Parts: sequence; structure tokens; C-alpha cells
Amino acid sequence: MIDSHCHLADDAFAADLSEVIERSKGAGIERVLVILEAANAEEEAQAEKTFRLWPVVRAAVGVHPHHAKQFAGNALGAVDAVRTQIARLPFTRAIGEIGLDYHYDLSPVPVQQAVFRAQIRLARELKLPVVIHTREADADTIEALKSAGGGEVKGVFHCFTGGADLAKAALDLGFHLSFSGILTFPNAQELRNIARQVPLDRLLIETDSPYLTPAPHRGERNEPMRMTHTASTLAALKGISVDELDTATTANFHALFRP
Ligand SMILES: [Zn+2]
Ligand SMILES: [Zn+2]
Repeated sequence: MIDSHCHLADDAFAADLSEVIERSKGAGIERVLVILEAANAEEEAQAEKTFRLWPVVRAAVGVHPHHAKQFAGNALGAVDAVRTQIARLPFTRAIGEIGLDYHYDLSPVPVQQAVFRAQIRLARELKLPVVIHTREADADTIEALKSAGGGEVKGVFHCFTGGADLAKAALDLGFHLSFSGILTFPNAQELRNIARQVPLDRLLIETDSPYLTPAPHRGERNEPMRMTHTASTLAALKGISVDELDTATTANFHALFRP
């Protein structure tokens, strides 16, 4: 199984990174995509350490909408930061996470939009997929992908929690949807209904660890080995075995991000 979105380079894993990796392998996780915030030197160092410990890891680099404000009036600065870091980390396979978050609203909306669009254009130029973070910004996210991506940029809506309309719009654009431990939460019935309808060849799974610990472990730090709970929930929804889900999501991951 592949964890398509985790933050193993986060501080939360600094103290016991090698144990976390060993537990991941023990749980059958064969690869992870580590999400990195561009221009964060500590994260970059920990990502290199992660890669040394576990050479199958791959990375995504981007400026998250929460951090877009550092590049107010300077969206090209964000692009430079991402481009430079990609050049330093040859195991990078995607630009992300990037997007719009109007829920937490930690950066002004026009700044989020400018930084998001600039990074979509970079993905188009570099022919890299994008990892999308979107919250309460459905229409603007789709519009930005259409106009700045020009139909050429593909990727994944990570930790999908949107409604049926956003799911359809994302699938129509050729994107994948990735489901996290939220799928296991008792109150996520609507999300489970959406997940059931996503075609098998567009599904990915993730932990978003250290966040979003699935039931029955809520309250603990999340880590890649916890993805098994999400996988069995999603397999049951699709009416297939965990093995079949694993085969499909692994193939989807490789097709999108390249091994
Ligand atoms: Zn996110
Ligand atoms: Zn994340």
C-alpha cells in the first residue's frame, strides 16, 4: 500500500523517524509521498534523512495556502522557492500541497489565489502533477485549475472532504480523489457515499499524518501504518477486497506520480 500524502518531515516525527518508518513497513506500506513546505530548511533536512532511511519515499514541494502570505505581492517568489527545492531534492515527483483554504483563511484570498495560480503554471511548465488542498473554495479551485492549468495539469484532491459537485468537477478535470482517515469517522456518512461512487481508477488513499488519525485511534498522533483502517473502510464501501483496492490505488499512484 502507498500512503499518497503524509508529513513525515514534520517536527512531530523528528524524535522517532526511523521507528515510524519501520512500523510503516511492518504494516505493509511500501511507499509514501512526503509533503514539504517550500523554503522550510528543517523540513528539507528531515526529508533528506527520510530518503536516506527509506529510499522509496517520494516528495511533493509547494507553498500551502496557509503560508501564501509570505509571498504577498510576490507570487513568483513562491515559484522560485519551489523550483529551487525541486532541483535540490531529485526524489520530488509533484508540486503540492497547493490550493485555497477559505475556512482557516490564514492568508488573504487574493494572495492565496495568486500563489496557487503561479504554482499551477509551474506544474504545467515542469509537467508535474499537483497535490491540491482545498477547503470551502470549490468554485475558485476548479476555476484556477482550468484557467492556469489549461487542461494539461493533472493531480489529486488530497484528503477529499468536498461534496458531490466538487467530486464530479474534479473527476471531469481528470483528477484523482484521495481519501484519509476522515472516511472512518462516524459522522462522515455523506463522504462515504461520495467515495463509493468514485471510479476505482481515480482513487488514492492517504493518512495526512501526523494529522487526522482514523478511528479507533483518534487522539493519538497519526502515522502511515494507520492507513490500513482507511483502506479497509474504502474497500468495504467499494465492495472489493483490501488487496484489490491496494492493487488499484498503487497503480493509480504510479501512473500519476511515476515511481
Ligand atoms: Zn492539506
Ligand atoms: Zn497535508
